[in-house]
Amino acid sequence: MMDRTYKVKNIENVISSKKDEKKRYYRKNYNFFELLKKIKLWPSRKGILHGIKSITVIGNKAEITTHCNEKFMIRNSKNSRASRWLRNKWLVKVCPRCKIPQWKLEKYASTIITQDYGAKF
Ligand SMILES: [Zn+2]
Repeated sequence: MMDRTYKVKNIENVISSKKDEKKRYYRKNYNFFELLKKIKLWPSRKGILHGIKSITVIGNKAEITTHCNEKFMIRNSKNSRASRWLRNKWLVKVCPRCKIPQWKLEKYASTIITQDYGAKF
């Protein structure tokens, strides 16, 4: 069985991403919640990357349910810790219970989020 526990800081060191793969760009002014709905990944406070099962938006907040059935209440903020983590692709480890498929991690690794995305919408 494959060991899915990675102890590195940058996801690009973890994933053997194909160099010639098309880069995906998210434009600035991108809604943070919409971004999460697209990438379906959530970095927890401890730096564990979870797979998102569902997002329920309630006004300016959203409830995230991960595949390992953890719930997180989040704010729609580009300055949030999670937003920074996703932008910089920091990562301590991948949640072993969420079973995030490799292709999804590779897609994330090849995604470039511009610095000021989600500024105002
Ligand atoms: Zn998880």
